[in-house]
Amino acid sequence: MNIGPNRALQANVLTLNRGFLAIHVVPLKRALCMLFKGMAEVVNVEDGMYMSYDFDSWLEMSDLKIELEDVGEHDEWLLAVNFSLQVPRVIRLLKYDRVPRYQVKFNRRNVFLRDEYSCQYCGKSYNSGSLSLDHVLPRSQGGGTSWDNIVTACLKCNERKGGRTPKQARMPLKIPPKKPKNNPLLTHQVQAKRYECWKSFLH
Ligand SMILES: [Zn+2]
Repeated sequence: MNIGPNRALQANVLTLNRGFLAIHVVPLKRALCMLFKGMAEVVNVEDGMYMSYDFDSWLEMSDLKIELEDVGEHDEWLLAVNFSLQVPRVIRLLKYDRVPRYQVKFNRRNVFLRDEYSCQYCGKSYNSGSLSLDHVLPRSQGGGTSWDNIVTACLKCNERKGGRTPKQARMPLKIPPKKPKNNPLLTHQVQAKRYECWKSFLH
């Protein structure tokens, strides 16, 4: 059990749309604000089932848990003079009716994230400063700048490949590139977090 407002306020909360699809990771403060305004509800995994709570019932439940000393090892708490609140891990937006048709932005960072910061030719991991974007089918041979023709390559492999296709250069790709279904940053954030319960919301 981790107590203390400072630590708890640094927590991140996974945000789902109405259809239980993960759409954001937000700071606790923002999540509490949405809960308080009735724009969202807490989704809590209890005995393998998803239970929903509005702000008041979550507060009541938190109080009860403290009273009964039913506090999990990994739970975090916001403790104030007149209330105790268990830090929610997942919230669901209530007033977000449409399932947003998420268009994954095509940019350098998202390509690096999709390829997990590893060169798609030699397979090694690098920091972003040592990575570049490579046209699989070179522009000089009609290759476009799109999700399915751009990969992450280290500077060395990029130079070695030059204006050739992987076949011409005898540098096979680790994974053929395609447009990611999920926002790569969200996928990355969810995977990097210690909260097991987040993973079940990534489709
Ligand atoms: Zn490489």
